[in-house]
Amino acid sequence: MVQRTLLRRSIRVSLPTKTRTHRQSRLRFSTVHDAPLEVSRPLSASAFQDAVQATAPRTNWTREEISDVYNTPLIELSYAAATVHRRFHNPAAIQMCTLINIKTGGCSEDCSYCAQSSRHNTGLKATKMVDVQSVLDAARIAKENGSSRFCMGAAWRDMRGRKTNLRNIKEMVKGVRALGMESCVTLGMIDAEQAKELKDAGLTAYNHNVDTSREHYPSVITTRTYDERLATIKNVREAGINVCTGGILGLGEKAKDHVGLIHTVATMPSHPESFPVNALVPIKGTPLGESKTVSFHSILRTIATARLVLPATIIRLAAGRNTMPEEKQMMCFMAGANAVFTGEKMLTTACNGWEEDKDMFERWGMRPMESHETIQGQQKLHSKEAANLPAMQTPEPTSKSASVEV
Ligand code: SF4
Repeated sequence: MVQRTLLRRSIRVSLPTKTRTHRQSRLRFSTVHDAPLEVSRPLSASAFQDAVQATAPRTNWTREEISDVYNTPLIELSYAAATVHRRFHNPAAIQMCTLINIKTGGCSEDCSYCAQSSRHNTGLKATKMVDVQSVLDAARIAKENGSSRFCMGAAWRDMRGRKTNLRNIKEMVKGVRALGMESCVTLGMIDAEQAKELKDAGLTAYNHNVDTSREHYPSVITTRTYDERLATIKNVREAGINVCTGGILGLGEKAKDHVGLIHTVATMPSHPESFPVNALVPIKGTPLGESKTVSFHSILRTIATARLVLPATIIRLAAGRNTMPEEKQMMCFMAGANAVFTGEKMLTTACNGWEEDKDMFERWGMRPMESHETIQGQQKLHSKEAANLPAMQTPEPTSKSASVEV
């Protein structure tokens, strides 16, 4: 009841009015590198209201609607995201994942941010694939330390001609599943047959980030197209594997590219199970090695918007978290982030450790998420209750929903 009253009051005070424009809101609220918002039209209260009232994911979002949510004053946006987060998730539960490299460096792609591209001079040595037993030993250590999901990454463009590697990876997936953990791999582009093989091995999720908006993407990567990325994601989804796809903030993009990134995943046939939000960790020797760090306000705004637009998805606070003080991390968790990478390393970058994270959770009354909780989340993700409603039309709030006045 207290929550409802507070929400009602805050929405009444500050929902965008017909006279407020994007340009005006830019003056009051920070965007990426203070990039000017190019649209000058009235903000819509309805898109924000729709998002706040959602009782199920919907896949018919327009860019304008997501832009209106994104440009809501940050104090309102974070509060609304926290409210929706509580409707779809337990805010005290954070999924701890451990991500290891099973094959480092030597990748033929030219992703401008990546230390593992053979086209950049970062000093990183390429290695062969790690053997199955070493990977399973690392998974066991991760489990003993509280991780419930184990992710394995290989620096490859695709899986063509890698039959032996695929066979070993399937053994890794089976071994991780036998430990009672969720398993996720990121191996570059895969076709439908490879996706089916991974599904048959028991793979929980496949990570393939779209990275940024369709428009900004060619400024970041030239060796594979946005549509090729989407094709792999389609193969994964159609094989029945959970999709993990998100982006990296700080690639020289503008605020509208954050909107474009969220729009891409929000309009997939079903929302991804997992949406990683990375903040660029500039690496010397890469084209983005001297980049300016993305503002925290942009990270928070992106997380909160993603929570409202992708209400049942796990939002993963990924690379760059180790540069955030605890208070900033907590703001992200309050605004809807509910997964982290924990361990000794995250691919080639530094990572917060298990003990550090568990201590932080304890201070704030939080705890690691258990596997059965992510399964419940999946049921909500695939709920069709509101998925096919036309834009601007929302279901009646359930007894669990917040009541909103505008
Ligand atoms: S495909 Fe992956 S490993 Fe290869 S350069 Fe891009 S981000 Fe790095």
